[in-house]
Amino acid sequence: MVLAQEVKTDREYPPFDRSTRDGYAVRAKEVAAGGQLKCVGEIKAGDTVRDALATGTCLQIMTGAAVPTGADAVVMIEHTQREGSVVRFERAAQAGQNIVPRGSEAAAGQTLLKTGTRLGYAELALAAQVGAVDLQCAKKPRVAILSTGDEVVLVEEMPGPFQIRNSNSVSLAAQVRIAGGEPVVLGNAADRVEDLGEKIERGLKEDALVLSGGVSMGKYDLVEKVLKAMGAEFYFDAVAIRPGKPAVFGMCQGKPFEAQGKPVFGLPGNPVSTMVTFELFVAPAIDLLSGAEARPLPLVEARLGEALNEKPGLAHFLPARVEWSGGAPEVKALKWQGSGDIAALAKANCFLVVPADRDKIAAGERVSVLLRKDVV
Ligand code: AMP
Ligand code: MG
Repeated sequence: MVLAQEVKTDREYPPFDRSTRDGYAVRAKEVAAGGQLKCVGEIKAGDTVRDALATGTCLQIMTGAAVPTGADAVVMIEHTQREGSVVRFERAAQAGQNIVPRGSEAAAGQTLLKTGTRLGYAELALAAQVGAVDLQCAKKPRVAILSTGDEVVLVEEMPGPFQIRNSNSVSLAAQVRIAGGEPVVLGNAADRVEDLGEKIERGLKEDALVLSGGVSMGKYDLVEKVLKAMGAEFYFDAVAIRPGKPAVFGMCQGKPFEAQGKPVFGLPGNPVSTMVTFELFVAPAIDLLSGAEARPLPLVEARLGEALNEKPGLAHFLPARVEWSGGAPEVKALKWQGSGDIAALAKANCFLVVPADRDKIAAGERVSVLLRKDVV
């Protein structure tokens, strides 16, 4: 979730001079290598500390306990020897050592988390530390998912010999959730202008609409045409990538009229194309709709494990596996039957990115991989 408020400190952090070690609280100038001091008591974490450290003495102190006034250093217990109440020090102490001074992590009233921050586990812990129990968060963007195609049937149905199950609605819903949105699965539209128009209109009631299928060059690929008739303004209607070339993106007025328009993505229907184009274009849009900044794509560099020979002209996103067995990432493309091959993608943990101007890449070269952040 994305924070829709600021979180501020309720007091200074740390609220007292805090010892970071188990050891002895001392005056640094009284500790010489081989010197000794009398230990006159102990301070545990949580103890109320009122009295100052008397000159010529030390106090045993635990990690997380408050350092008494007068003391300006903590000597680790590992660097001392003790006999009865006498503590012998192996080395000289430096003022400030092993103490985090009061207010050094944050001042009272200081902003710790800004509006638009994504709440991960560290951010939640930080809010918890300052007692921010209820956090106002941005509403998750509702993303309508509409598949298209006369051949598509419900996953619960037995498809006829020339039909296919609607797996795209399932993968898109998962991708929307992982990206921080709330999927609204609208089902499937037939490849007919009226049915598409009605269902697209329903989809435009949500914060964004993602369609699968119907954006290629076929006679029954009607998505762009219907969106255009509804007044959509297109920002791109093809992308120089494979798979995913026919993907389109536009802004469309919802009903009732909304000045800003609704983002609409027409993704190709072949499942691997749908998945790749979602990661490249829709996931960052969901970040923006969530009131956060778009996270960068999870691209990492890896050593190519096996030579590649691809057709140049388009940037390719090949189903691949990256392994860290030798410490450094090494990636190999998987065998696949093209953009309908869901089984290949289910074996992949990343997409290997082949730039548009490359055809042959030798084993050992550095390549970019787009991680599947749901499995790695
Ligand atoms: P299209 O982009 O409409 O030309 O669809 C390309 C191919 O993707 C179709 O022939 C189907 O095999 C497949 N496809 C389309 N829609 C879906 C869907 N909802 N679920 C799974 N596969 C689909
Ligand atoms: Mg189709």
